[in-house]
Amino acid sequence: MSKHIFITGGVVSSLGKGLTSASIGMLLESHGLSVRMQKLDPYLNVDPGTMSPYQHGEVYVLDDGSETDLDLGHYERFTQSPLSRNSSWTTGRIYLNVIDRERRGEYQGKTVQVVPHVTDEIKRAIRSLDSEDVDVVISEIGGTVGDIESLPFLEAIRQLSLNIGKENCLYIHLTLIPYLKAARELKTKPTQHSVGQLREIGIQPDILVCRTEQDISRDEIEKIASFCNVPVTHVIEEKDCEFSIYEVPVMLSRHELDRRILDRLQLKPRKEADLSRWFDIIQRLKEPEHQVNIAVVGKYAKHKDAYKSIYESLDHAGIKNKAKIRIERIPSDLLESKESLDLLKKVDGILIPGGFGERGVEGKIKAVRIARENKIPFFGICLGMQCAVIEFARHVAHLEGANSTEFDNETPHPVISLLPEQYAVKDIGGTMRLGAQPTHLSEGTNSIRWYGTPDISERHRHRYEFNGDYLETLGNAGLCIAGKNPERLLVEVIELSSHPWFVGVQFHPEFKSQPTSPHPLFDGFINAAIQRSQHQ
Ligand code: GLN
Repeated sequence: MSKHIFITGGVVSSLGKGLTSASIGMLLESHGLSVRMQKLDPYLNVDPGTMSPYQHGEVYVLDDGSETDLDLGHYERFTQSPLSRNSSWTTGRIYLNVIDRERRGEYQGKTVQVVPHVTDEIKRAIRSLDSEDVDVVISEIGGTVGDIESLPFLEAIRQLSLNIGKENCLYIHLTLIPYLKAARELKTKPTQHSVGQLREIGIQPDILVCRTEQDISRDEIEKIASFCNVPVTHVIEEKDCEFSIYEVPVMLSRHELDRRILDRLQLKPRKEADLSRWFDIIQRLKEPEHQVNIAVVGKYAKHKDAYKSIYESLDHAGIKNKAKIRIERIPSDLLESKESLDLLKKVDGILIPGGFGERGVEGKIKAVRIARENKIPFFGICLGMQCAVIEFARHVAHLEGANSTEFDNETPHPVISLLPEQYAVKDIGGTMRLGAQPTHLSEGTNSIRWYGTPDISERHRHRYEFNGDYLETLGNAGLCIAGKNPERLLVEVIELSSHPWFVGVQFHPEFKSQPTSPHPLFDGFINAAIQRSQHQ
């Protein structure tokens, strides 16, 4: 039977629970254990796919097409744990299942209630990852202890230790130890309160991971341990990292978090942990040999989490190429003035990420033009690729007024248009072209050179597509169709051969990059940017 680790958060949100969970997963894997990860989110949306990036940051897409929370991105970047629909649950999805069961008559006349029916459904969701060959299932509970909406999740994980045995469950509480400047002191009271709240609902945390900006002294550790009723050895400091989030697992291991978990769950490591690859990453981050400036031009550029996986993927390529990546976040709707456009000409690479809706699109098209005309390395992702096609159609193929029908239904040249299967779609949740799809790359392109193979699979999330009616016109004008879906012949990759690096992809490569193995297209883009930075 699989053992279970539950990770809750206290005091405030945004403590980095996802990162801590992912780091724990990675550390357990480093001991040769097989791990599965999941996130349980207490909000009512069935999935985050319908939420604005302003609300919830990036929507992270899995191979199976699930639209999930961005924490799943951390899980995939840190661990080898395969993720699926069962790795992402919300209150909305749990209730949907309960109500479906009720309509099917599965409750046999009973009154359907939060306890036990909703909690049973949550337990089913957690145990959906159990299997003979899985040593540990790690479930991160979204939100903060004390929120009304997380109560059924906490009740469910409390009950699980009764169902499967205390020795098979471990509760880790991530909390904040704030530093009060005026008092020049770290404060442990909020943590005491938060653990108190957990204990009131019947959960005694086994381990406390304490987020802090300052070192926590031995005295303070002892105080936390005694007030919160955990052994001193189980109060683990997690200080803000100096260079990068990729220091977190190494730091937690230095504080012996992995040892404590293995001992408490009586798990036998299958091998000696080897973190050398992670030490290497940190070393490369500390001593870069190059520096490149990359402009990310997007509608949500100012929002820290809206393009999370893109920023991480740029860093991964930076790590491999020993380059420090400086990112200029440029909101596309501000790209009007001459000054801001001139600023763009000075960067070493321009990346336009995915997006929805008309606002800022003309700014993105201007950014593409600057990249194309000034031979600045360009990487267009999803909407970014669509903008590149529109720009090429308007200014190279002279198709005046060319556009996507997403932004102009009356355009004389709909070079980007709705996928045929999308015409009748009314619901917006889970109805896009989603998940892993194959692409066949053409010989002689930058893409095949960097992938090193003609047949690839990448994740999609879009409704609109390169309009096949324009293949010939745009091809004759010099647009290179570098990759197509082999069955449906949809255009997936475009390039410009007369440019050092101009690649647009209809899919989202940022969902398949890891710090230990960067995505080939990000690698190629950063290589081109380094070359430009050396010749400027
Ligand atoms: N809005 C575009 C579409 O739906 C692009 C989507 C995206 O960039 N993810 O096709």
